[in-house]
Amino acid sequence: MEAVLDLLIKNGTIVTESQVFQADIGIESGVITQIAKGIKGTASQVLDAGHKLILPGGIDAHTHFEMPFMGTYTADDFESGTIAAACGGITTIVDFAVQQKGELLFEALKNWRQKADPKVFIDYGLHMIIRDLNQKTFDEIKKVIEYGIPSFKLFMTYRKEGLLLDDGSILQIMQEVAKYGGLVGLHCENNDLIEYFSEALLREGKREARYHPDTRPGIVEGEAVRRALILAEYAGANMYAVHISSKLGMEAIRDARRRGVAAFAETCPHYLVFTDEVYSRPNGINFVMSPPIKREIDRTAIWGGLASGDVKTMGSDHACFTSEQKLMGGDDFTQIPNGVAGTEVIIPILYSEGVRKGVIGINRLVQVTSYNTARLFGLWPQKGTIAVGSDADLVIFDPEKKMRLTVDNLHSKIDYSIYENYTCHGYPAITVSRGEIVQKNGHVQAKKGRGRFLKAKPYPDRKLPAL
Ligand SMILES: [Zn+2]
Repeated sequence: MEAVLDLLIKNGTIVTESQVFQADIGIESGVITQIAKGIKGTASQVLDAGHKLILPGGIDAHTHFEMPFMGTYTADDFESGTIAAACGGITTIVDFAVQQKGELLFEALKNWRQKADPKVFIDYGLHMIIRDLNQKTFDEIKKVIEYGIPSFKLFMTYRKEGLLLDDGSILQIMQEVAKYGGLVGLHCENNDLIEYFSEALLREGKREARYHPDTRPGIVEGEAVRRALILAEYAGANMYAVHISSKLGMEAIRDARRRGVAAFAETCPHYLVFTDEVYSRPNGINFVMSPPIKREIDRTAIWGGLASGDVKTMGSDHACFTSEQKLMGGDDFTQIPNGVAGTEVIIPILYSEGVRKGVIGINRLVQVTSYNTARLFGLWPQKGTIAVGSDADLVIFDPEKKMRLTVDNLHSKIDYSIYENYTCHGYPAITVSRGEIVQKNGHVQAKKGRGRFLKAKPYPDRKLPAL
């Protein structure tokens, strides 16, 4: 007797990290149980993909929902944030639990799960941000990894905001995390240089948002990436550079990879479409994030990294603030809450700008939006691919659908869109999370809190996936 399927998706063109093929997908209890042409049998629900593309659900391993930062909180919480993600074809986010000063790592973890669990529409994992290293928190690292959080994030900047860790602490954490097969991500910017440039500008009375990028030229990132890589090599650790934004940062990663160092770079959608002229616009304040958007030469280098494979993942660094919040830095750019929205636009922008323009192929899109991310962060093969036994996390992607990324068409809580005049060609039509249709044409039709916390796995025997 044939099994009764919960969901049968017919007539799709399936795209994985390495293949493109026509097949139907059968789903039972949230898991893919069949992939074949012309699947027969009964199903509670049948979805005709109408020859659109079916991609593995996106994984955005860089969100900051409901995070305290620069005297306020990021505007999207786990409800609006995961709605926005789902509407952009993302089925898993990995957010950052932030340790507050004086707090234990497990307290931070508890706080984040309490914020996220009742609100998430899709599955989620966590990274741990360590900002206060002492014997107690050092001793927790192994337990945090065993709990299901093998990835950490450390800051080389934001001293005044209390996030910066000194190089000695970074090295110690890298050594400890490496022992258990975890991954250390770093925000690589040279804090001393940022403070030097910022103070010089403020002294000259240059206080507007348009001076923000001048505090962080490519050298600020390039130096920090190289320093982080030297520390990681010494520690025998894997190194993940979050949000690479510059040619110098990109070159540092590429040089290290050629030496055989396990160095992985992430970039974000805003670095792919804009250049630093945005800071001179009347709404330049809304584009203030760190690292800032840089020059055309940097944008080109990042696209080069995506094409060559030196950029391994796309993350959004979704940490957005309303216009009112941004105005906290209206007369001093160093006080502007840093961050933009982006989780909803990762896949459409990469498709429109990358695949449609022939810079990258569709398999590369799947690698950097899903497969590589799942491999690096210990979620594969449950997530990150379309295969029998994997979670039925899928995006039905319409390559012909056009969508202008206006504030009304996007789902973040903020009152503007930095992509307001940008129209995508190719957009997610339907998002399926563990076999459930959670989003159809921008309308969410799922229950709040249905998302599950994912326990990620460290690398067995410290052996990294070959990526
Ligand atoms: Zn971030």
